[in-house]
Formats: sequence, structure tokens, C-alpha cells
Amino acid sequence: MTIDGQTFAIVDTSLAGAKAAHTLREEGFDGRLVLVGTEPERPYEQPPLSKEYLRGEAQRDAVFVHGASFYADNEIELRLGESVIDVDADHRELSLDTGEWLTFDRLLLATGAEPRRLTVPGSELEGIHYLRTLADGDALRERLDGGGRLVVVGAGFIGAEVAASARQGGLEVALIGPSFFAAGDVASHLDPRLRRLRVKHWTTRYTRGPRRRAACSARPSATSDRCG
Ligand SMILES: Cc1cc2nc3c(=O)[nH]c(=O)nc-3n(C[C@H](O)[C@H](O)[C@H](O)COP(=O)(O)OP(=O)(O)OC[C@H]3O[C@@H](n4cnc5c(N)ncnc54)[C@H](O)[C@@H]3O)c2cc1C
Repeated sequence: MTIDGQTFAIVDTSLAGAKAAHTLREEGFDGRLVLVGTEPERPYEQPPLSKEYLRGEAQRDAVFVHGASFYADNEIELRLGESVIDVDADHRELSLDTGEWLTFDRLLLATGAEPRRLTVPGSELEGIHYLRTLADGDALRERLDGGGRLVVVGAGFIGAEVAASARQGGLEVALIGPSFFAAGDVASHLDPRLRRLRVKHWTTRYTRGPRRRAACSARPSATSDRCG
């Protein structure tokens, strides 16, 4: 793809943005390639944040999509910690919170998703974490290192993974959700046999040992027969 002199702007310095930029270079795009994102870190993968990184089994360097020199080596401009506040499609310009305008020929918006914020009384108290960014992962990991009891609100895949990681670290965990291992819309589309298998796998793998009853007590009655 030879489009000399063109600027391809990508709004997302996360997984999709990094992969798209990589692919563009691999496919021969030789124009200006700019990634803009609010994250202060270079692109990283989020999945380890609820699993091996949270458990302290993976080093920080392991979560990044590419090595530190990849972007300079491939002439990919990373504009970290910058937010796009307006898109002027007619003039092909992005307005940045730095006060600058970035002109583009092509634009990829891949702004991702964020966890829903709790708005209940007390939701601003100390000790409440959300998990999406590497900084969130660092803060949660530090907390879990201190031991104690963890309450996870949200029994989807990520909530269950955090609960499992915390159990592996020896913490007492209560996992709260409308139904055990609901995983939101995703699980509702799973074959019931697969859902049962996941529950069985989770319960046998993560609830053995002296703290088993504490973990089980957090479960709704639908699965309580597995708690013995
Ligand atoms: C803890 C955790 C565990 C996960 N585990 C798994 C897993 O095991 N398997 C799996 O398939 N998926 C998993 N996911 C989901 C997976 O990480 C996401 O699907 C993936 O990160 C999506 O990447 P993305 O680049 O599309 O979006 P995101 O990672 O959400 O990135 C979007 C980026 O756009 C930026 N942005 C948004 N608006 C603006 C703006 N106006 N200006 C500038 N920048 C902006 C955001 O700051 C963000 O950095 C997990 C997610 C989390 C949080």
C-alpha cells in the first residue's frame, strides 16, 4: 500500500491501534503513521492484568504489545497521554487536548470500552479499584499483595479471573453478580454444557484447600451443591 505523503491517524494506543499500525507497515503503507491515545504507557495487552500479571507471575515488560524500540524503528509516532476532543471530518483534522490540531488523510477510531462505574453510595471510598489499565493493574496488584479479603463486583470473565487470581494468592474472595459466572452476554450465548464445564473447572481448580468454604459462601444457591 504505497500512499506517499499521506497521514494515517489512529485514535487508540492500545491493542487494536498497535496491531493496526503494525499491519499497515507490514502491508507497505509508507506514509506518516500517528497513534494518539490517553494512555501514558506504550501499547500493552490487557488480558494479563487479571491473570499472570495480577498474580505477579509476569514481569511488566511482558504485557507490552511491542518492544520499546518498535515504534521508532517503524516510524510510528506515538502520542501518549493525549486525548482527542473533536473530529472534524470535513477538514480531516483531529483536535487534541494539548490545543494542537492533527491533520489526517485516513482515520481509524478504535477507542475501546471502559468498565461501568458504580454510582452507589460509598463508591468513591478508599480501597475500591476498577480494572482496565496497566496503572489499575499495578494498584490492584499492590493491594492484593497485602492479603486480606477481596470483594469482586461483577461475575463476568474478568471478575471471575480476578477472583481466581486472588484466591491463588491466598486471599478470601467474595464474587458478586446476578448469577454465578454470568459473564454477561457472552456466557448467555455459550452452550450450557460448556458453561457447566467452566463452572466445574473453576470450582475444582480454585476453591480447594482450607479457604474453600469462604469462596463457596459467596456463590448463589444455583451452584452451592458444588461447595459441599
Ligand atoms: C483486565 C482485562 C482482562 C481481559 N482479558 C481478556 C481475555 O482474556 N481475552 C480477550 O479476548 N480479551 C480480554 N480483555 C479484553 C481486551 O483486552 C480488549 O478487548 C482489548 O484491549 C481491546 O483493545 P482495543 O485497542 O480495541 O481497546 P482498548 O484496550 O479499550 O483501548 C482503547 C484506547 O483508546 C483510548 N481512547 C478512548 N477515547 C480516546 C480519545 N478521545 N482520545 C484518545 N484516546 C482515546 C483509551 O484511552 C484506550 O487506551 C480483557 C480486558 C481487561 C480490561
